[in-house]
Amino acid sequence: MLVKSKPGLFQRFYVVEILKGLAITMRKFFFGKTVTIQYPEERREYSDRFRGMHYIKSVNGVENCTACMLCPTVCPAECIHIEAGERPDKEKYPVKFEIDSLRCCFCGMCEEACPKDAIKLSNIYEMSQTSREVYDKKFLMEQRGHK
Ligand code: SF4
Ligand code: SF4
Repeated sequence: MLVKSKPGLFQRFYVVEILKGLAITMRKFFFGKTVTIQYPEERREYSDRFRGMHYIKSVNGVENCTACMLCPTVCPAECIHIEAGERPDKEKYPVKFEIDSLRCCFCGMCEEACPKDAIKLSNIYEMSQTSREVYDKKFLMEQRGHK
């Protein structure tokens, strides 16, 4: 059964509740531990498991990728586009390697599938943009991700 209690005068004007709320605010303001940071001067350290902007690993400017097409095959968002080519030494390589960042859901499956440890998701999280952006091979090889 629903029991309705009649609010008192203080309760009706919320005076006690407002004062209680103010007391909590003041206590947190003067004595509480600061949980915010002064971004962008201060930055948070993210876990190594964080999946941010992609990059392609390279050694001496040569990408690890052999254009095996595994990553575009497993990608659930179908946002990786690769065109394969062949070097004079018959090694396959990606002539074109693009990732449509707007379609990517950062699931990390491309990284999991790659047999050459070539495509990685870095800990870079600043990816805001004002237009649709497709990361090309040059950008993916240049950007400073690490893991
Ligand atoms: S993180 Fe997932 S959605 Fe993004 S490119 Fe890799 S496989 Fe595709
Ligand atoms: S799975 Fe790795 S080696 Fe294969 S195409 Fe993708 S990045 Fe290149």
